Amino acid sequence: MKKRETILVFGAHSDDFVIGAGGTIAKYAQEGKQILSIVFSYGEGSHPWLKEKVVQKMRAHEALEASKLLGCQTYIFDLKEFDFLNQYKEKNIEKKILPLIKTLQPQKIFTHSIQDPHPDHKAVYKLTLDIYDKIKGKRKPELYTYSIWNPVSLKTSFPALFVNITKTFSLKMKALKTFRSQKIHIAYPVFLLIFRAIKEGFKIRTMFGEKFFRIK
Ligand SMILES: [Zn+2]
Repeated sequence: MKKRETILVFGAHSDDFVIGAGGTIAKYAQEGKQILSIVFSYGEGSHPWLKEKVVQKMRAHEALEASKLLGCQTYIFDLKEFDFLNQYKEKNIEKKILPLIKTLQPQKIFTHSIQDPHPDHKAVYKLTLDIYDKIKGKRKPELYTYSIWNPVSLKTSFPALFVNITKTFSLKMKALKTFRSQKIHIAYPVFLLIFRAIKEGFKIRTMFGEKFFRIK
């Protein structure tokens, strides 16, 4: 029997996997693939008036609700925002992720883009590459980047992967709405999300699409 395809999606904050790859995650899940989203931070900083634990609970609840809609599983680490790389080392997160990759043997890994200006997104890009270099074995997973705050129009020499998300775009929007407490990307313009989906969809002659770059 063929092994069920497994996909890992790394994201700095609890809603990044939805904004960056939500349509694709839902599509893959419907195709029977197993998807695990790894979130590095609850994002406490955006609610200074609430106790950390309260925010963490809220965020975890929202992320799990969104995951359920998309059909993936989510694991959340508690790195502090704007200090990812130090915290990643201090909390020895690598020791948790590498064995996970060894067990799951993912065919694809998605992460933030180096062109994304958000420092936490950049940090996750860096640590993904670091992890990637440490993956052993002959057949390494394909590594893709998704866009949050970076313009998609920037030129790159990496091959693009377009995914037709016409059937799952509404699920993506629904999943995004579960982040009621979210202040980090609350300003994330919905029109930009829709514009992007239409723009990428146009390239593959479908209504909605998501675009990724394969960097490894
Ligand atoms: Zn983010």
